[in-house]
Amino acid sequence: MEAAHLPAAFGFLASVRTDGGGIPAAVFAARGSRTDIEASGRHQHLAATLVHAPEADPDAARARDGDTTVVLAGEFYNRGELRSVLAANTPADSDAELLLRLLNRYGPHAFRLVNGRFAAVVGTGARVLLATDHAGSVPLYVRMTPGEVRASTEAKALAGDQAPRGFPLADARRVPGLTGVYQVPAGAVLDIALESGTAEAHRTWTPPLARRIMPEGEAVAAVRAALERAVTARVAPDATPLVVLSGGIDSSGVAACAHRAAGGLETVSMGTDVSDEFAQARVVADHLRSRHREITVPTADLLAQLPYAVWASESVDPDIIEYLLPLVALYRALDGPPRRILTGYGADIPLAGMHREDRLPDLDTAVAHDMATFDGLNEMTPVLSTLVGHWTTHPYWDRDVLDLLVPLEAGLKRRHGRDKWVLRAALADVLPEETVARPKLGVHEGSGTTSSFSRLLIEHGVEEHALGKAKQRVMRELFGLTVAGGRHPARVSTAEVVRSVADRFQRGAA
Ligand code: ATP
Ligand code: MG
Repeated sequence: MEAAHLPAAFGFLASVRTDGGGIPAAVFAARGSRTDIEASGRHQHLAATLVHAPEADPDAARARDGDTTVVLAGEFYNRGELRSVLAANTPADSDAELLLRLLNRYGPHAFRLVNGRFAAVVGTGARVLLATDHAGSVPLYVRMTPGEVRASTEAKALAGDQAPRGFPLADARRVPGLTGVYQVPAGAVLDIALESGTAEAHRTWTPPLARRIMPEGEAVAAVRAALERAVTARVAPDATPLVVLSGGIDSSGVAACAHRAAGGLETVSMGTDVSDEFAQARVVADHLRSRHREITVPTADLLAQLPYAVWASESVDPDIIEYLLPLVALYRALDGPPRRILTGYGADIPLAGMHREDRLPDLDTAVAHDMATFDGLNEMTPVLSTLVGHWTTHPYWDRDVLDLLVPLEAGLKRRHGRDKWVLRAALADVLPEETVARPKLGVHEGSGTTSSFSRLLIEHGVEEHALGKAKQRVMRELFGLTVAGGRHPARVSTAEVVRSVADRFQRGAA
C-alpha cells in the first residue's frame, strides 16, 4: 500500500460557529496554495482555509455527508486495513472520505483505528471533534470563544490580542505565550459541544507500558518487517524516495528499506563548516547506489535561521530548537519542486539509543520517561519542511512500529555491548558493517549546532554557567516576535536578539 505523492493538505485553519460568519484570515508558515471551504449544517457553520501543495487536490482533504464535515491535514498509512472494515471496496477514496465513513461506523472511536500522520477537525451535529494522530505529529491548536471553536495546525493562526474570554480546556495543554490557545494532546480526540463549550478528551492511543519477551531471532525479524512496512506505506508510487541521511543506523535503515520498496533512492546530507557526517553518509549512499547530495551550510547562516526554526516548530525549548535547526536549514536548502522526504527521526526514543551503559533498569527508565514526555515538543511537525513546500514523514514513529519497539524487553535493545541492538541486527544484511556498528551522533552534535550557538552567546559576553538560561531567553524572544507577534522570520535577526539578551544578562537584569 503506497502513499500519494503529497498529502491533500499540509495544514488548515478552521472556524466552526453556531451562527454564520466568514472565513478567518489565516497565517501559516507552511508554504503552498490556499483553498477556502465552507459548509453549513443544521447546528453549525464550518469555514476553513487549507494550505496545500500546488499540485495536490484540496478536495481530497475534505468530505461531507449530511450533517458531518471532515477537514483533514496529512495522511493515513493503513488505508488497506481501514478499507477492509468498510463495506464497499472503494480504492479511490481519499483519506478524508475514509475517515468520514469510519466516523459513520464507529463514531469518534474511528480515530482509534487510524495509523497516520494527521490532524483533523470534524463538525458533526452540534459538536466539533478535534483529533491528532497517535504521536501528535501534526500539531493541532484550539481557541474557544462563546459560539465559536477555532482550530489550526499552526498556533500562530490563533494568536491575537483578544481577551482570553471563552472557555478554558482542562484536558488540553495551554500554549505558553499565547493566551487562550491550547494544544490538543497527542493520540486524542477533543469532543466539544459548540453551544456550551464543554469539552471532553478521549485518548485514542497511549504508549505501551508493558514489556514483551521475545526470542532474539523473532524480535529481529519482526522489527525488520515492521520497518519495511512503515517505509513502504510512506513511499509514493512512480517517484524516487528522498531520504535525509546522516549515515547513522536510523536514517541508513530507512534508506535501505526505501531502496528496497522503490527500486531507487535519492539521499541528501547536510553539514556545516564546523562539522559534518559526510564520510559516514557517503558509505551508505555508495552501498545503496543512491543519487546523493551534500549540502554545506556555513555556521553563521545556520544560526541566522533560528527565527525560522522557532516560527516553524512553535516551540521555545532550546534543546528542541537546537536539534531542529540543522534540519530546517537542510530543508530550506533543498530547492526544486515539493518532495516527499523520509527521515530516520525518533528511533532513539523507543530504543533508548541515548543510553550508553549496560544497566537495563536505567534503559527502561529512559524509555518510560521519554515516551511519557514527548507530547507537545513538536519535534515531528511537518512545518519544518512545509515551510518550503516539502512533506516529511518518520517511519520509526509509525504507530505499528512504536507498538512493536516500545514493549521489547530492555535486553533486546541493549545487547552484546551495543545500543539499539535489535535494530542494528534487523538491518545487518542491507547495510555496510561499519554503518551497522556506528555509534549514535545527534544532528545537533554532528553539525556542531549546539557548540556554535554556545560560542555565539559567549562571544556576546554570556558566561558559561548562564548559557542554558540565555538560550531559553533567546527562544522565548524569538517565539514572541514570530509566533505571537506575527513578524515574518526574514525580518527577525538572531544577532540582534542574542545581543539584547546578552546585554540584559551582563547588566544582571535577566
Ligand atoms: P541517525 O542514526 O540516522 O543519525 P539519529 O538517531 O542520530 O539518527 P538524529 O541525528 O537525531 O537521529 O537525526 C534525526 C534524523 O534527521 C536522522 O535520522 C536523519 O534522517 C536526519 N539527519 C540527521 N542528521 C543529518 C544530516 N547531517 N544530514 C541529513 N539528514 C540528517
Ligand atoms: Mg544521527
